[in-house]
Amino acid sequence: MKKHNFYAGPSILPQYTIENTANAIKEFADMGLSLMEISHRSKQFVAVMEEAQQLFKELLNIPEGYSVIFVGGGASTQFAMVPFNLMNKKSAYLNTGAWSKKAIKEAKAFGEVDVVASSEDTVFNYIPKNYVIPEDADYFHITTNNTIYGTEIKHDIDCPIPLVADMSSDIFSRPVDISKYAIIYGGAQKNLAPAGVTFAIVRHDVLGKVEHHIPTMLNYQTHIDKDSMFNTPPVVPVYAALQTLKWLKANGGIQKMHEVNLHKAALLYDEIDRNPLFKGTVTDKEDRSIMNICFVMNDGFESKEKAFFDYASERGMIGIKGHRSVGGFRASTYNALPTESVEALVKTMQDFESENK
Ligand SMILES: *Cc1c(COP(=O)(O)O)cnc(C)c1O
Repeated sequence: MKKHNFYAGPSILPQYTIENTANAIKEFADMGLSLMEISHRSKQFVAVMEEAQQLFKELLNIPEGYSVIFVGGGASTQFAMVPFNLMNKKSAYLNTGAWSKKAIKEAKAFGEVDVVASSEDTVFNYIPKNYVIPEDADYFHITTNNTIYGTEIKHDIDCPIPLVADMSSDIFSRPVDISKYAIIYGGAQKNLAPAGVTFAIVRHDVLGKVEHHIPTMLNYQTHIDKDSMFNTPPVVPVYAALQTLKWLKANGGIQKMHEVNLHKAALLYDEIDRNPLFKGTVTDKEDRSIMNICFVMNDGFESKEKAFFDYASERGMIGIKGHRSVGGFRASTYNALPTESVEALVKTMQDFESENK
């Protein structure tokens, strides 16, 4: 049976990425060796790194004055790296979920953190608005897509101080005006590559302003100066990321991805809104994520939750259980997820409705 992969992360990748990476693990660049057993300083791998950085910039239209770096440690290490590199006394954060909270916790080790707004009191089911960004803070941090709760900041906000964004789960899902951001970072394992590589897009002019010492490996400048080759980069995930970037380009780039993503999300949200057995968890429709779509059983149908989960599993729907803090269901609709998988889930919800009314 065909499996429909709705996992939130690690998550579905293009077949193109999986096949090319599998082949390179067997034999890389006609070297007679595996991608896993060659020097990262070989000219063949240096070419992979360079092309990945160049394509990353091209697809996202990254202007002059920024570098793209690939490092280890996951987005979770960025939670500390951002304040280490940018914060002298004070920073500002928007608290929109579990990942924001973890980022806030790390920043507190470096000084005063102004949490300008939070939606925690309602289990993060909306994006706070009308908050004031303090102009005396060193930067303002947002999580654009809240993977667990299914909310998303889908536009590039105006910010009077350097804007830092965790885009782990929505990078490459929509066009972004990079010039509005000082730093964008994310773990690759949601929309780009297998776990193990973390990307950061860094504007050079925000660096070099802190008074404290930054450990070498946690200093963005180290990785910028050495083109992500200061130490051994995660070779296989970087190779896989390059395959996804090539796939993105061959499939119409980000503009096209965005159109398809909007269409997939609309198909599923329309069904959630129409089907009397289900309801969405995000209160403000404009805040609904196009990458992680959360829903629960509607009032009166709560007892059917396990039955629906089993029913959907029997039909090949994988990874739709909601995060334990929200419950219910979450369907992640990353770039590589075909529209056909969303249609199959919608059909499953409709059939379940007719059998359970
Ligand atoms: C998954 C995720 C993280 C954590 O990423 P790691 O690479 O596992 O550290 C952080 N932020 C967001 C928005 C995520 O979705």
